[in-house]
Amino acid sequence: MDFSITPEQQALYDSMKRLAADVLAPGAAERDKSGTWDRAIWQKLADNGVAGMPIPEEYGGSGGSVIDCCLANEALAEGGHDGGFGLSLGAHWVIGAVPIWLHGSEELKRRWLPGLCDGTYMGAWASTEPEAGSDAGSFRTTATRDGDDYVLNGTKIFITNGPIADVCNVLARTDKGPTAFCVDTTTPGFVVGRELDKMGCRSSPTAEIHLQDCRVPVSSILGVEGEALWSIAFECFDWERTVMIAGAVGGMRATIDDTIRYAKQREQFGKPIAHFQAVAHKIAQMEMNYHACRNAVYKAAWLKQEGREHQLEASMAKAMTGELSVQNALEAIQIHGGYGYLRDFPAERALRDAKLGSIGGGTTEIQKMIISRIVLA
Ligand SMILES: Cc1cc2nc3c(=O)[nH]c(=O)nc-3n(C[C@H](O)[C@H](O)[C@H](O)COP(=O)(O)OP(=O)(O)OC[C@H]3O[C@@H](n4cnc5c(N)ncnc54)[C@H](O)[C@@H]3O)c2cc1C
Repeated sequence: MDFSITPEQQALYDSMKRLAADVLAPGAAERDKSGTWDRAIWQKLADNGVAGMPIPEEYGGSGGSVIDCCLANEALAEGGHDGGFGLSLGAHWVIGAVPIWLHGSEELKRRWLPGLCDGTYMGAWASTEPEAGSDAGSFRTTATRDGDDYVLNGTKIFITNGPIADVCNVLARTDKGPTAFCVDTTTPGFVVGRELDKMGCRSSPTAEIHLQDCRVPVSSILGVEGEALWSIAFECFDWERTVMIAGAVGGMRATIDDTIRYAKQREQFGKPIAHFQAVAHKIAQMEMNYHACRNAVYKAAWLKQEGREHQLEASMAKAMTGELSVQNALEAIQIHGGYGYLRDFPAERALRDAKLGSIGGGTTEIQKMIISRIVLA
């Protein structure tokens, strides 16, 4: 058994962390307050190969492996302190660009992937509907065949990058069943609705999308018509539960490091609060939680990379990280005392950002449903 990463992977991690510290961290608190997505920052990161990390070089990407993508995402979160950026990047990668790469025709790949990789285009995925969340297969959006086109009608909600996406993979029901369509967002009838005012990850824009007689060519279908739920949507969830959740692990590291710094510097009763066992043990627990999550995420990611069965491991990694990152952020606030309750310190933002990990990409309850179904089978 070998837990090590290659020198190249370590260099990737270090360079991504430095890049995030230089480009993302300054202004992260302000972007959170104002709920601002910064296009210029996105372009700077894209110029450094970030936007196309999982996509092969022949389509303009960096050709990163599953582990490379986890490392990059983790390092960007650790150095950047910007959960919103991580959310937008994760959605752009694993539910925007990856389904086009894995299931698009050569024409769709050539049309979209180079721009998705160089920062020109932003990607998105729309499956969730007001009445179809955890029960992902119950969506109602329809796709009706009309000559060489399909006409889409329905409403999607919680769409990450909805207001800024150039291409959106939309799940709709044809008479053959659930089908994914790669939709150019300038298509008439693709209407960006209300922007949602979130508690965390606020630098990432999220919106409702209305499909109103949105006419798309048959050639925009990803994969096999009628089979998108199992072959594409569940595969997207799988990327979310490995590569995307690695960002939450990086966020946990940043929160622990901030807390250690604070506990060593803040003095009460004549000594640093880190010297009180009650505080030191909280930090020990935070460190244990971080390592448990990191190991779980990389085990699942490694199995995925090797092409081995990993549904159980991915759901466990997602559920653990979603819950323990919240616990760690709560303890960080406690250790910061009254200052932790203020917006001046990053601990409260870490809590608001971390909470999404137990909801998006399948809630903790849904992960436990999957885990229990597997172990009780
Ligand atoms: C910030 C953000 C970004 C998102 N980005 C996207 C995106 O880009 N594209 C997209 O398509 N979707 C996106 N989503 C949607 C996300 O995947 C859903 O919110 C999530 O799957 C939960 O669905 P729901 O919100 O409808 O909750 P519900 O399914 O209504 O769940 C409500 C509660 O009931 C529980 N519950 C439901 N069913 C069961 C069950 N069988 N057993 C036990 N408990 C159950 C849930 O765990 C939860 O606690 C995003 C959501 C958020 C908040």
